[in-house]
Amino acid sequence: MRPGLLAAALAGAAVAGHAGPAVLGRGRWRERVVPGLLGRGAPGSVALTFDDGPHPEGTPAVRRALDDLGVRATFFLLGRQVERHPGAVAQLLADGHEVALHGHEHRNHLARTAPALAADLQRARDAVVGDAAAGGLDPARVRAALRHTRPPYGAVSGGTLWAARTCGLRPVLWTAWGRDWLGHDGEQVAATALAGLDRDAPGPDGGGGTVLLHDSDCTSVPGSWRGTVAALPLLVAAVRERGWQLRPLWQHLPATGAAA
Ligand SMILES: [Zn+2]
Repeated sequence: MRPGLLAAALAGAAVAGHAGPAVLGRGRWRERVVPGLLGRGAPGSVALTFDDGPHPEGTPAVRRALDDLGVRATFFLLGRQVERHPGAVAQLLADGHEVALHGHEHRNHLARTAPALAADLQRARDAVVGDAAAGGLDPARVRAALRHTRPPYGAVSGGTLWAARTCGLRPVLWTAWGRDWLGHDGEQVAATALAGLDRDAPGPDGGGGTVLLHDSDCTSVPGSWRGTVAALPLLVAAVRERGWQLRPLWQHLPATGAAA
């Protein structure tokens, strides 16, 4: 695909701040432009993903909730948050979660050059690997376990795709969201996420969705992660009632197309 084509298509739709990642609601056209971009997994599988962490309160609270529920998820970390709040990466990996990259700075890709985006991803990767190494983990293994990246606000440009490929990462967005960045309560967040999952493919043969949530309020309404934590038991119970399995992205997504 010609660099800039998708950027042009998405330009003007990007948002910033507490408005959240509203650039992407629904619409299958993105998947046709970049296969696999939305993170549609196998039927019967659902992935929970958490952006913008680590956060000193939000991330431990989400970890506890997921542990209580026996769920393994994917965390798209910000390099600058890792530097501000060290020690989280090894804990997430010890819990069996997948760690992925949201970038170093939480900036819209549509306003940045491809080389700047690659440098940002590399800086985030260095921060994540360094934090894990400080926690006693093998840097090479942690680096190899980094498979996925998600641009802030879901704003994808040709540079996003080029930078991801340069770093050997697969860009993954989402098919459903909890709109938890708005500070909604747990029932609202769970209902919103579930509606997104059901809209695509309800019933026992459905699923396949990837849910966007946040374990950090660094770009959201202060304390918004509390609603996320409260939503998790409700959302997980509803997902399991439908017969769907909760998996981290690396198990949820088809292997084909990875970093291609
Ligand atoms: Zn974000």
